[in-house]
Amino acid sequence: MEQIAAFRVDLNKIEGDGEFPCPSCGTLISPDDESNTTYEIIDVKTEEDGSLKSLNILCKMCGNTIIIEGFEALNEFDDLNEEDRL
Ligand SMILES: [Zn+2]
Repeated sequence: MEQIAAFRVDLNKIEGDGEFPCPSCGTLISPDDESNTTYEIIDVKTEEDGSLKSLNILCKMCGNTIIIEGFEALNEFDDLNEEDRL
């Protein structure tokens, strides 16, 4: 049995315009949905230069926390990210 504190979603592995299903319940979560009906942003982490690092959101359908990572790609950084811990 593995212990999972929170679900993680890597934007680099998402195709399309950023929508992804909740890893737990499958509810489609869209970054463009600002109605707060399916999810709620609970924490925003930024790099020292102010660029977005990760986003903690709460899926309102199942109550799980989802950490969205991979904003580096959107910021067009070319750094190799070795944090592939599963
Ligand atoms: Zn969910």
